Amino acid sequence: MKIDYEQNSRPGAVIVAGTGNAALSAAIAAREKGAIVKVFDQADYANRGGNSRLTAAVLRIALESSERVELLLQKPLAENVQIEPYDSDLYFMEATASGKVDEQLIRWIVRNSYSSMYWLVKHGLELELSDHTYTTAARIGEQVYSGGLILQAKGEGEGLINAELRILEAMGGTVQYESRVVDLVRSDQDGAVIGACIEDSCGKQWREYGKVILGSGGFEANRQMVKEHLGEIFAGLKQRCVPYNTGLLTQKALDLGAMPYGHWQGCHCSPIDVNAPDSADHTIRELTNRVSFVAGIIVNREGRRFTDEGANYPPKCYVAVALDTLHQTDQLGFQIFDQQGVRYLDNYYQAKGVTREEAQTLPKLASQLGINAQNLVETVESFNLACQKYSHLDYSFHALDACHTAGVTPPKSNWARPITEPPYVAYPYTAGLTYTFGGLKINQHAQVLDCNGLVIEGLYACGEAVGGVNYMPFYIAGQGLVKGTVTGMHAGHHAAI
Ligand SMILES: Cc1cc2nc3c(=O)[nH]c(=O)nc-3n(C[C@H](O)[C@H](O)[C@H](O)COP(=O)(O)OP(=O)(O)OC[C@H]3O[C@@H](n4cnc5c(N)ncnc54)[C@H](O)[C@@H]3O)c2cc1C
Repeated sequence: MKIDYEQNSRPGAVIVAGTGNAALSAAIAAREKGAIVKVFDQADYANRGGNSRLTAAVLRIALESSERVELLLQKPLAENVQIEPYDSDLYFMEATASGKVDEQLIRWIVRNSYSSMYWLVKHGLELELSDHTYTTAARIGEQVYSGGLILQAKGEGEGLINAELRILEAMGGTVQYESRVVDLVRSDQDGAVIGACIEDSCGKQWREYGKVILGSGGFEANRQMVKEHLGEIFAGLKQRCVPYNTGLLTQKALDLGAMPYGHWQGCHCSPIDVNAPDSADHTIRELTNRVSFVAGIIVNREGRRFTDEGANYPPKCYVAVALDTLHQTDQLGFQIFDQQGVRYLDNYYQAKGVTREEAQTLPKLASQLGINAQNLVETVESFNLACQKYSHLDYSFHALDACHTAGVTPPKSNWARPITEPPYVAYPYTAGLTYTFGGLKINQHAQVLDCNGLVIEGLYACGEAVGGVNYMPFYIAGQGLVKGTVTGMHAGHHAAI
């Protein structure tokens, strides 16, 4: 798509905080409408892209038909590919299952999920079919995609951010790294936000004037804020996120009277390797993820099960499993598999440096892990007896298989199969904090609203800086990036006017 930006040009200037997906979507949209766009990121160039760059960039998009998938891929599907439609109603139902999120906001995101991703594709973003273990499955002669997570950005998060930066820079938008937005500038006359105060890595400060779009993520990297809003137990967690999302700009907006919105006591967590670093970056990405627990059982330090490992597909239950782990001794869990189970572990279990133990017997495994051996043996024996029916032939995470336990607490509701084939393998893990759910309230132009529901002129928010979409422990994967593109695109278009 060729656009004459000079001809479209308007006098407005737009300042964008962040280089994550939401911020870059906003910057592209504002530039498309002719605004002078300046993007500032606290991170240096090597660490550009926020949490968005760490992702597998799996996208939850309402896709009513295969034709829509082909439009997003910009090419026909291969003959053996089957797409199970994922319509807006189902998306909406899944995204609002907690009953405690902003239905209007979610309906807006769902309704725009296809068109906003198509908008980025027309600008040059490339998408591909998701290779996520839990959304695609081979049937005889066919590859089936289902469950709403059908597409991902080509090159995952890295590919997404680099493509968005290329698009923006080709349109004449500029990005300045190591430049933190530290404050918002308000008009003395009417209180509208008219600019931002920026600080470089040497501490030099200056002002930029224009409408301001906050694409600065949640406050997950700020342990003090996490402690204050989510409690001590979350503040000490390893972080799966970049260290820049400190919530400073969310706080600055609140100081101006913006409405705090969404589940401020909630966050996204995931099971991660017990030896994962304390904070993540683009070299870590999702490598420390441990979400193939459906193929085995999970025990605690005492050798007892404490969570339903088969409650749902991993994209719908891994957050709940991570949260259950928070209440175990040392916040640790141990995923245990036999030789049947290990066949179904995703690639991250083979990553370099993975923490793993293996033994021919369960007592030996327990002693290597430092967990109660007698209890572990009892746990596995009673679990094996409780497995009702199972078939290795249909062992697939593509559909809930209802192979459940009976008579053990907690139950395992799907994929329950006896653990009998040595050597036994264990992966110790803990819960990692990904991002927080509390943010600002926006309208459908992504303008930030104050505590009376009135627009704060000149101020916009997008992506995880916006609250109201998630409520812990409910979570469905793949919403975050789409939320960022929908809110970012609308913010940029409106701010440029
Ligand atoms: C490991 C991992 C895997 C994930 N997988 C997926 C997935 O497959 N699909 C999905 O939809 N979601 C996924 N998510 C969630 C997803 O990352 C977020 O929903 C999404 O990236 C949020 O985008 P954002 O642009 O709002 O924030 P971010 O991408 O985090 O960007 C925030 C930006 O703001 C900058 N910043 C912060 N404060 C300031 C300041 N004061 N001044 C200037 N800049 C500032 C940061 O440096 C950064 O550039 C995953 C998250 C993680 C961590």
